[in-house]
Amino acid sequence: MEFFKTITALKKKLSDEKKHGRTIGLVPTMGALHVGHLELVRKSITENSLTVVSIFVNPIQFNIKEDLLKYPRDLASDLEKLKSVGCDYVFAPETTELYPEPDLTRFDFGQLDKVMEGKFRPGHFYGVAIVVKKLFEIIEPDQAYFGEKDFQQLTIIKRLVEMEKMSINIIPCEIVREADGLAMSSRNVRLSKNERDIAPQIYKTLKNIKKTYPVSNISELLKVSINLLNSNDGLTVEYLEIVDAKTLNPIKKPYETNEIIACIAVNLGNIRLIDNLKLT
Ligand code: AMP
Repeated sequence: MEFFKTITALKKKLSDEKKHGRTIGLVPTMGALHVGHLELVRKSITENSLTVVSIFVNPIQFNIKEDLLKYPRDLASDLEKLKSVGCDYVFAPETTELYPEPDLTRFDFGQLDKVMEGKFRPGHFYGVAIVVKKLFEIIEPDQAYFGEKDFQQLTIIKRLVEMEKMSINIIPCEIVREADGLAMSSRNVRLSKNERDIAPQIYKTLKNIKKTYPVSNISELLKVSINLLNSNDGLTVEYLEIVDAKTLNPIKKPYETNEIIACIAVNLGNIRLIDNLKLT
């Protein structure tokens, strides 16, 4: 496994590889890797000649400074994990390498970045789109792997590739969960023992919604579910919505479209957790 910090060195390496006809899979991450990330890496390894994993805690996608400062970082352990699964190249640039000056590109994702995460994390998807576009331009992967855990992000990246007419296949990867159902996340290590015990209620609620769905009164189902979750110590639901998986518009009638997904964000103590479950 080779490690790169500069764009020039990585581009040189990859251009040599491409001359030999090798296909490239990219897995963008912010590090603090867990089994969920490694599943994306494994999938890329089986589907491409070479896999590049990027590790970059992207400052411009954090709308709360404390969240950026407290984001877990452990490069040495990440490199060990990536080596153990057979990753080929790791790209971990400094912030100044990716942003020698502020990037002023603007995107129009329409409704996609205004709802759910977009509403509660202003500027978040703008930051994500900027960094992913940069990584795509530097690495020029054939395929890029994104987790369904960040479902709205995945939808926006697909749209980005369409808008920019990039010939990159975006490969969605299923959510990897802990044994008790909690979606794996780099932020889980920051949960206290008590919060960690409560956290599986999030997925439990989503599963209950799926079991109950379809119902005629969707807003009532959401209200009951939110109240139940909020009754847990220290847990506050930020949003819980049932949306069209393509447009991310809230569903009003149970069979409005054929791809429907429930998406949730909660604050558990100081930690923000998201999850989702397809209902159809
Ligand atoms: P992050 O480091 O949190 O930016 O995540 C990097 C990539 O890993 C994103 O595409 C995430 O959606 C994906 N990912 C994170 N957690 C999981 C999980 N539990 N299951 C599947 N993919 C995940």
